Amino acid sequence: MTIPIQQITLHHLSMELKQPFTTSFGTVENKDFYITEIDDGQGNRGFGESVAFTAPWYTEETFTTTGHMMRDFLIPILLNNLIKHPDEVSKLFTTIKRNNMAKSALEGAVWDLYAKRGGVSLAEALGGTKSKIEAGIAIGMQSSIAELLHKIELSQENGYKRVKLKIKPGKDIDILKEVRHHYPDLPIMIDANSAYTLEDTARLKELDAFQLLMMEQPLAHDDIVDHAKLQAKIDTPICLDESIHSLEDAKKAIELGSCRVINIKPGRVGGLTVAKQIHDYCVEKGIAVWCGGMLEAGVGRAQNIALSSLEGFRFPGDNAGSDNYWKKDIILPEVVAQNGLITVPTDQGIGHAIDFEALAQFKVDEETFIQK
Ligand code: MG
Repeated sequence: MTIPIQQITLHHLSMELKQPFTTSFGTVENKDFYITEIDDGQGNRGFGESVAFTAPWYTEETFTTTGHMMRDFLIPILLNNLIKHPDEVSKLFTTIKRNNMAKSALEGAVWDLYAKRGGVSLAEALGGTKSKIEAGIAIGMQSSIAELLHKIELSQENGYKRVKLKIKPGKDIDILKEVRHHYPDLPIMIDANSAYTLEDTARLKELDAFQLLMMEQPLAHDDIVDHAKLQAKIDTPICLDESIHSLEDAKKAIELGSCRVINIKPGRVGGLTVAKQIHDYCVEKGIAVWCGGMLEAGVGRAQNIALSSLEGFRFPGDNAGSDNYWKKDIILPEVVAQNGLITVPTDQGIGHAIDFEALAQFKVDEETFIQK
């Protein structure tokens, strides 16, 4: 049965993070993003979220480019084609090169709508089997080691199962030494967001001593060759993030031995369908996966949770509770991590209602596209 698409709305929201988040590139204080809404004209509405930041430091996409791509190219494709299953969306979108975050923002809404029309949860629609997922927390760079240790202490009081720390040259070995001294057994992963080159191999090799779960994207954002050379020389498993934009990228990286882990973010790979394909392939090849975060608000967060209910997501994701990022989220109930665990919703679709009052509060403007 065709999924009727009667109307698509782009809600431009602007939300202030509870605390600024600093990576090796810079600091995010405000997040501008789109909540996408697809109405089937039969009483069901599916929601998605765009994850691109305001500046192109993570990938080439920005908030503005995602709006342009959706408005001028992707929405017309959705309105001019009959879709029976959300898996067809990423295929239809292949006529448009890359721009995966724009694609994912719309595809996520189709998935939510599809699940709601079928009366099942998004997790179930995706084939997820876990009823609870482990929550991890990403801690941005801090102004001092004392502040970092304080943030880790809070995360442990809140029961988070692992912490992810951001590092860069000169803010790595000394920091990890301190953290390990205070937390000898804490599961830690680190993310360098491409701050190193192969010339730093000796330095990165030193990090083996800290028994890290993994080291995320130490080398260039578009590299899989140097990562393979580095992985051959260090014991810490390399996890690729920025380098993987498609199932093909994942296949090549695995074949080259560039990583032992892949961080799957639906926004980076063009949506939940491709995210699931990469998951399935990694399971087949014995490569661990987990779901990274993009400082999402509630809709994106809920979609990541549904995705993480798939069996192969073996490491805790960046799926901390809403209250870790926002004073107020845009979904009801908000995402809550209890003792480091998040219950996968069983209600239909993303399993959270939209808090329309909050949506209105954070809304800058909206545009509607109607089926003719
Ligand atoms: Mg990363």
